[in-house]
Parts: sequence; structure tokens; C-alpha cells
Amino acid sequence: MKDVVTNGSKADVVIIGGGVIGLSIARELARRKLDVLLLERGRFGAEASAAAAGMLAPQAEADRDDDFLRLACASRDLYPEFAQTLYEETGIDIELDRTGTLYLAFTEEEARELEKRYRWQKSAGLEVEILSAAEALSLEPKLSPEIQAALRFPRDWQVENRRLIGALVCAAQKLGARLCADVEATSIKIEGKRVEAVETSTGRVHAAMAIIACGAWTDLIRFGEGDLGEPLIRPVRGQMLCLEARPPIVRHVVYSLRGYLVPRRDGRLLAGSTIERVGFDKSVTVHGLREIIDHALEIAPEAAALPVRDSWAGLRPQTRDGWPLIGASEAIEGLFYATGHYRNGILLAPITGKIIGSLICGEEPQSFTERFTPARFKIK
Ligand SMILES: Cc1cc2nc3c(=O)[nH]c(=O)nc-3n(C[C@H](O)[C@H](O)[C@H](O)COP(=O)(O)OP(=O)(O)OC[C@H]3O[C@@H](n4cnc5c(N)ncnc54)[C@H](O)[C@@H]3O)c2cc1C
Repeated sequence: MKDVVTNGSKADVVIIGGGVIGLSIARELARRKLDVLLLERGRFGAEASAAAAGMLAPQAEADRDDDFLRLACASRDLYPEFAQTLYEETGIDIELDRTGTLYLAFTEEEARELEKRYRWQKSAGLEVEILSAAEALSLEPKLSPEIQAALRFPRDWQVENRRLIGALVCAAQKLGARLCADVEATSIKIEGKRVEAVETSTGRVHAAMAIIACGAWTDLIRFGEGDLGEPLIRPVRGQMLCLEARPPIVRHVVYSLRGYLVPRRDGRLLAGSTIERVGFDKSVTVHGLREIIDHALEIAPEAAALPVRDSWAGLRPQTRDGWPLIGASEAIEGLFYATGHYRNGILLAPITGKIIGSLICGEEPQSFTERFTPARFKIK
């Protein structure tokens, strides 16, 4: 039976947003036997979560050793068990691929940058290998002969994010969460500094706890007559090109400073992406595709002959300081945030579910996760 919301519906917890973040939390809370109702304005996972490339690459993207890297590595390290339990719960294989990630340098300056990254990551105890051009080409013969050097991150993996969404929907429902598509949350009703209800397009849901997990649209949620105050999250458009590569031209996820290629098990090859601040416009543009194609061909010139299968764009949710917002509101009892995951929401989905689950169940969270609480901004 389809889950619906009508006036007078009740739940322990209402989750607003059915992307990878809201769904991961719904599953986690349902595992903990809470009565969960998730509201999704459109289709589950159809926004940024479907647009993503599915890279689980905290090390490849890191410029320094900080709490964000610790959070991202901790979430990546949860993935093998996350994939296995999701498979047991649903029979859906989320295609966790552990081949690893290559990061290419095309100039001497880029090679020096990679060497720096290699040195600090090694001394931080992270797994990373430095490769000559010849070694990189022996691993991936279809890469450009122009490369100067490369790093290999054996623990930076990838997952098929659209299968992940399907698995999370299925698991959360099997565990008893109620997931409602086509229902928009419009505002959160606060009474005496406590969450009392969530107003939706189809009626009011009474709940003492509400979790804002609506990605790029976070600032559109109202609090009674008020709003969040100064804008908290801005949308950052990312365009993606999907090619058909049978047989595959690369096995690893491959990055350069400008773009990336992600090979999928079924022969798709994703080429990404752009970083554009254009509001809520999800258009795919000629300019965006030209940029992506140039960067893809720099990595692997043979991609020029591949058929184009699809293209799309999604809106990454970015906070003012670029770090995600995960935790309880200081001002309003029962209000939680799980948003602003910007370029790493697929990677951070397992740990976000765990942090919110621990907070709601009154368990002690890991200390470094405190850096991500909403207390760092002046918000409700
Ligand atoms: C091109 C591109 C490539 C990316 N690649 C990667 C990658 O390789 N690895 C990685 O880790 N991350 C990647 N990301 C980032 C990742 O996609 C996001 O960080 C992640 O999807 C955010 O998840 P979310 O659930 O917060 O947001 P979304 O998936 O956008 O979900 C939010 C949901 O909330 C719903 N919603 C909004 N307002 C309301 C409301 N009022 N009521 C009800 N529902 C509402 C929306 O309809 C939406 O479904 C990429 C993103 C893009 C665009």
C-alpha cells in the first residue's frame, strides 16, 4: 500500500527530503525501531543523488588532514559493511567497486602538487601510491601518453549511486519506515521552542522530531511565519556526460585537476563535471558539455570515439563554509539538520545516518563529528 500523509498523521520522526541523505537516515532510524515518516516532494533520490558519479574518494580530493577528511574516510570505511547489509536486507547489489582511484598530473607543476599530497597523506598514515607515467600507463593503457605522474588511492572506491537509492528505499520500507513521494513539506510548526508538527502539501503531520534533509532546497523550509534567516545553503550545478564504453577503456576511477572518468560495470562511462553557481537551473548546456568533453579527452583521448548515451545536471547543496551540516539545532528541541553535503553526499550517506541515529537515540557521537553541528551558524 502506498504511504500517504493526511491531516492528523503522526510519527516519532519526520524526515524532509528523500535523497540519499534522508533515505540513509530513514533506514538507520527504522533499524532502531523508531516510527519514521519521510516526505519527498518528487521521486526518491531523483535530484542530486541520482546526478552524482558515485565516487567514494575522500583522499583524492583532500588538500589537508582535517576533521572533514576524518569524517569522509570514516564514512568510506563503513561502505563494505553498508553494501553487504543492504544486500542482505534487499537483494540489491549497489556495485561497490574497490579497484581504486588514479589522480593524474599533466605538467611538472601538477606532478609537484601530487607529490606533496602523497607525502602528507603517507605521514598521516593513509594508503597512497606514487606512480611514474609508465607505471600508470601499465595499469591503464588507454590513458593519455601526456601524463607526467599519478597517484593511486587503493581505498578510494565507487558505488552505483542509483542502485544505492533503490536499495535504501527498499531497505527503509522493509524495516518499517513510511516513505511518501509527491508530498512537499512547507513549514515546521514550533511551539514553545519545540517541534510540534510538519505542514505538508497534503496535511499536517504531528511529530516531536523533524530532520531537514532537503539538500539544495533547505532554505525554502519555513518555520511558522519565519524562515532560516541568512541563506544557509546554495545550489551548485554539476553537469554530467554519460558515454558508452564497451569494452571499457579504464578500470579505475580517474581524476585530473579538471575532470574525472568513472567506469560503470554495465559499460557506461561517466564524465564530469562542472561547478556552476546558477541558482536552481538544472539545464545541461553546450558550454558545460564542451568543458567536460575537453577534460575527458585530456585524460583518455580514445574517449573521442565513444557513443554518447545521456547527459544530465544536478544541484549540489553547499553551506557557507563548504562543510556539511549534521546535528541537532541548539535553539529548537527536536529539530535536526542533515544537509549541505555538497560534493560528497554519496560518500557521507552512511556516516550521516549513523550520526543522526546516535543523536536521536541519545548515544554519544564520535567527538570529531561535533565540528559539523548547526551551532557554527546563527540558525534556528
Ligand atoms: C554532477 C554531480 C556529481 C556528484 N558526484 C558525487 C560523487 O561522485 N560522490 C559523492 O559523494 N557525491 C557526489 N555528488 C554530490 C551528491 O550528489 C550530493 O551531495 C548528495 O546527493 C546530496 O544528497 P541529499 O539527499 O542531501 O540531496 P538530494 O539528492 O538533492 O535530495 C534532496 C531531496 O529533498 C527533496 N526536497 C527538497 N525540498 C523538499 C520539501 N520541502 N519537501 C519534501 N522534499 C523536499 C528533493 O526533491 C530531493 O529529492 C555529486 C553531485 C553532482 C550534482
